[in-house]
Amino acid sequence: MVSARRLISRIVYGSRYDRVHWTQRVYVRPGERLVREAQWRGRLRRAPVVPLADYAARTPLGAIEEFVSCLMCGQSRQQPLFRPANGDGWSYRVVRCPSCGFLYRNPNVRPEHLGDLYATGYSGFLTGDYAANRQRRYRLTMDAFAPVFSDGRGRRLLDFGCGAGLFLELAEQRGFEAYGVDLSPDSVEQANARLTRARAYFGAPEDVPEIAEGGFDVITLWSVLAHLPRPLSDFSLFRRLLAPGGVLLVLTVNARSLLLKAYGPTWSGFTKNHLMFYSAETLRTLLSRTGFAGVSYAPHYGDAVEAGTDRLTEPLRRRLRRTVEAADGGNMMRALAFADQEAIVRWGGDRRVHRLRTRAEAPPVPAAD
Ligand SMILES: [Zn+2]
Repeated sequence: MVSARRLISRIVYGSRYDRVHWTQRVYVRPGERLVREAQWRGRLRRAPVVPLADYAARTPLGAIEEFVSCLMCGQSRQQPLFRPANGDGWSYRVVRCPSCGFLYRNPNVRPEHLGDLYATGYSGFLTGDYAANRQRRYRLTMDAFAPVFSDGRGRRLLDFGCGAGLFLELAEQRGFEAYGVDLSPDSVEQANARLTRARAYFGAPEDVPEIAEGGFDVITLWSVLAHLPRPLSDFSLFRRLLAPGGVLLVLTVNARSLLLKAYGPTWSGFTKNHLMFYSAETLRTLLSRTGFAGVSYAPHYGDAVEAGTDRLTEPLRRRLRRTVEAADGGNMMRALAFADQEAIVRWGGDRRVHRLRTRAEAPPVPAAD
């Protein structure tokens, strides 16, 4: 199958794109976006939709897992799509909500067992090149949402899921009064060794008095959203912890990624501990249901392209940017959510702001079948 595909692309494209990194090819080969989007629609048409009870009856359930309905809209019917797995022996099942399109792992992880995933050894890889690349990514995203992160003096920042403190280090350099929380005790220890003024804590925000008092100007979620089994309660908490005029930054894998449409179960966004996969649309639902007033997005073209270290020619780079924008198909999604009207005025700038109708009080609406 793979070699047949290679043969087809050899016939269609020749060797012209051999030097383009494989993660960029789908964005630069002419016509490929439309083919991949058509393939995706075909996949969705073919995949059956089943009631949750039927799905649960035939699907094995792990000790720390539970079956869930769509957390965004309440729909219980399931459209099973993928079974990502890798050689380390983990695998899980990803379903799509037939009503709102939300992609999530089902069975999911029971929230009270979330800490089990990060208990020991999780911080091991947060060093060396990985750390340098991460900090580059943080800087690029801060630039994309300038001037929110330009000057932190006199402003409080919370990094939720701060890991080994790689972002907190940048935040304290920019003058923020910065705090972090994380579920990995090893990571928190590493973070506090790295930081001078900022502090990282193990556990939940409610358990740390300096954090629970709120009043944050900025909250950041760097590659954390996909790990949250109860995003509605977490986002309601973030909303409460934000000061008037506060903003929430989210970076997460993009469920509309063209790479997901091209590679399906082997997509890089299906990593071991990811639980839920958001698009711009499903993130809007989450923000609107938890009391946020608006959200802006910054398309993600890839860190190498944005940092200018890719090896693309200028015409190919332009084509990549156009494809990402046309498909809303960057591999990551970057969003800045505004707590209230004041935040939109202060930080919206000339960005396009999607205004949200707050539905925090309304119960989830089960969509019609
Ligand atoms: Zn749904």
